Amino acid sequence: MNKTFSIISLGCPRNLVDSEYMAFELKSRGYVFSDQVKDVDTLIVNTCAFIEDAKRESIDVILKAIDAKKSGDVRKVIIAGCLPERYLEELKQEFRDIDEFRGVLEFKPKGDHRGLKLTPDHYAYVKISEGCGNRCSYCIIPYLKGPYKSREIDSIIKETRGLMKKGIKEVILVGQDTSLYGIDLYGRKRLADLLRKICLILKGNWIRLLYCHPTNLSRDIIRVMRDNSNMCRYIDLPVEHISDRILKKMGRKSRKKDITSLIGYIRSEVPDVALRSSLIVGFPGETEKDFQELLSFMRDIRFERLGIFKYSREEGTPAHKYKGQIPEKEKQRRFDAAMSLQQEISARVNERFKGKVLKVLIEDREKDYYIGRTEYDAPEVDGLVYVSGKNLKIGDFYNVRITDTHEYDLQGVVLTGLA
Ligand code: SF4
Repeated sequence: MNKTFSIISLGCPRNLVDSEYMAFELKSRGYVFSDQVKDVDTLIVNTCAFIEDAKRESIDVILKAIDAKKSGDVRKVIIAGCLPERYLEELKQEFRDIDEFRGVLEFKPKGDHRGLKLTPDHYAYVKISEGCGNRCSYCIIPYLKGPYKSREIDSIIKETRGLMKKGIKEVILVGQDTSLYGIDLYGRKRLADLLRKICLILKGNWIRLLYCHPTNLSRDIIRVMRDNSNMCRYIDLPVEHISDRILKKMGRKSRKKDITSLIGYIRSEVPDVALRSSLIVGFPGETEKDFQELLSFMRDIRFERLGIFKYSREEGTPAHKYKGQIPEKEKQRRFDAAMSLQQEISARVNERFKGKVLKVLIEDREKDYYIGRTEYDAPEVDGLVYVSGKNLKIGDFYNVRITDTHEYDLQGVVLTGLA
C-alpha cells in the first residue's frame, strides 16, 4: 500500500514553493499526498525563522506535530526549512521526537522545477530566484539562503506553459528580490525580458510580481506593466523606512529622494497602480523625529497596501549589536500609531473604487455571496471583494460593479462573466 504524507508550509510564498518541490519529490517516490494531518506516514513541517513571531509560530507547529505523532496520527515527522537551517543543534537537543531535520532546499537554477501545487487551482507561485546579496543589516535571509541565484528563463517559461495548460488564471513571480533577476546568470537584469515573454503566454490571465527592491527595480519593468494589460497593476516594493539616517543604518542603498522619485515615476506611468510596501518601526536608533518623518511619508504616498512590522532583533545580523535598541513598549506604541494611520489611508484609497467595474477572480463561496480578488490584491496579504451573484464559477474572472468600500475590502455585484 502506498505511503501517505502531508505537509505544513509556514512563512512566505517562497517557502511554499519549496514545500511544493518537497511534496513533488515525495510524490515521485510513490507517496500519496493528504491534506489532512491524520493517519499519515510522514508529516513535513517547512518552517520559517525570519523574525521572532515566525520562529514562535514554527515552534508551536512543531509541538503540535509531536503531539500528532504521540497520538499515532503521524508515524514520522520531518522538520525542514529556515528554523533547522538556523538552529539545528538547539532543535536536536530540544525535540528528540523529531525523526529528521532538513535545512533550506538547495535551489537549482536549471532543470525541473515541477512542484505539487499547494495553492488553489487558479493561481500559482513561480520562484524565479533564490538567495539575496543585498545584506540589509536586520535581515537573516542572506545567511540562510546564500547569495543571489537566478533561474534560467527557459526553465521558468516551461513551468509557466505547464501551468497555463492546467488552467491557471494567475501566475505570481517570487524571489527574495525579483528586481535583480538575471544579474548573476546573464550579467544583466533580465526581468523585463522575462515578463514580456510571460505576458505573451498568459494572454488574458494575470501575471503578478512580488518582492521588488527600490534600489534594483528598473524603470523598464514599469513600462512593461504599463504596456501589458494582463500584468497586474500592482507593485510590491518594500521600502522599510524613509529617514536617510535609518536607511543607512539598515544597509539599504536607496535614499528618500530615490524612493520618492521612483514612486512618482510608477504613479505617472501606471496611474491606477496598487503600491504595496512594508515598513519597519522601532529600528535601533530610530528617534521620534525619524518616526514622524515615516508617518508623514505614509500620508504623502498613501500606499494602497502596507505591511507594518516592529523591528525584530535577530542574532547573527549586524543590527543585533547596534546601540539604541528601542524598548518593546515604545515599539508597540509606534506600531499602533502607524497601523491606525494606514487604516484611515486605506479606507480613503478604497473609496476611489465605488461605482467602478472591476475584473474580479472569484476564489471562494460563502453561504449567499462569493469572495474574490482584483488585480490590486495579492493572495493572503491584501483585501478581498465580497460579490453577490448566482452560480459563479470558482477560479473564473467576472466583471463586478463595486457598490461599497471598506478599510481593506470591497463589496459588489456581478455584471458579466469573462472568458
Ligand atoms: S532585500 Fe530582503 S531578503 Fe535581501 S537582505 Fe534585504 S530584507 Fe533580506
